[in-house]
Amino acid sequence: MIRILANDGIDPIGKELLEKAGFEVDTTSVPQEQLAEKLKEYDAITVRSATKIRQPLIDSCPNIKLIGRGGVGMDNIDVDYARSKGVAVVNTPASSSLSVAELVFAHLFNGVRFLYDANRKMPVNGQSKFNDLKKAYAKGTELRGKKLGVIGFGRIGREAAKMALGLGMEVLAFDLFQVPAELELELAGDVKVAVPIQGVSLETLIAESDFITLHVPFSEKPVLGPEEFSKMKDGVGIVNCSRGGTIDEQALIAALDSGKVAFAGLDVFENEPTPLEDLLVHKKVSLSPHIGASTNEAQERIGVELANLIIDHFKQSV
Ligand code: NAD
Repeated sequence: MIRILANDGIDPIGKELLEKAGFEVDTTSVPQEQLAEKLKEYDAITVRSATKIRQPLIDSCPNIKLIGRGGVGMDNIDVDYARSKGVAVVNTPASSSLSVAELVFAHLFNGVRFLYDANRKMPVNGQSKFNDLKKAYAKGTELRGKKLGVIGFGRIGREAAKMALGLGMEVLAFDLFQVPAELELELAGDVKVAVPIQGVSLETLIAESDFITLHVPFSEKPVLGPEEFSKMKDGVGIVNCSRGGTIDEQALIAALDSGKVAFAGLDVFENEPTPLEDLLVHKKVSLSPHIGASTNEAQERIGVELANLIIDHFKQSV
């Protein structure tokens, strides 16, 4: 029997699929330092982002035939090395796109009505200064009719763009590769509507967007730094639910302080899991602790997709 260690857990539906297909699934969380020894008892391992699968671990467990990552990024796995040793590495890139895109809008709606600040001040001053607070948050704005710049038009960028279009926003899309001419919106009642997309240069996006959301992978150089912030519209809103390091955090703080950026919604940080305190306490920042993919629906899709990938792999290799 093929034995799988789901070291960072797996959704119960994914586990059930694997068990029905005849696999044994162990959801014990083995501490990193004990993995080299313990993994000798298994044929495959699944991880999320917590467990690290590096070269020495791969070398010490030649019995492992597959590494499965529930989710997108594979920074925690030495993928090329594993594959060079004949170990299959699979992930579930599409399963969480919708959840991340919805979190972008949670931050955007939060930002345009000052909820990030109201949620901090109401518990303290909600009784003594209700009318002052009411006045302080009186100049909210609507998203409809505004321009959303989407940097990185891959799986999540496109989902975010669809939601923006559904809200009546205009989308300015930039990617290193050509963006599609249109996106298909799937509305309730199985109604499908094709909406044209404006692919623009990064310069145009930065200069013309009312809100900017980032959906790019990690790169050594931040996509948004001091120069980019200086060319944005005054009062722009920034959302980052992609990867820490894609925004220069010091430049963002300076732009928030000067008023260039009205608010930021951040799910990801340069120095996770200990983000910069100046960002955490900043009064113009809406915060979440890297939970973009963390919905029940996304975790279920991830579990099912991962289970099917594992089943297919072992079916083909027997
Ligand atoms: P994807 O690969 O489908 O899309 C990324 C797109 O970015 C690609 O089209 C690529 O060409 C483009 N790109 C790369 N560098 C660029 C640059 N400098 N400028 C413009 N475009 C650039 O990836 P995805 O599934 O859409 O994921 C996007 C990001 O979201 C990734 O960083 C991923 O790790 C992150 N993510 C975050 C969470 C979360 O919990 N917050 C969850 C899932 C994914």
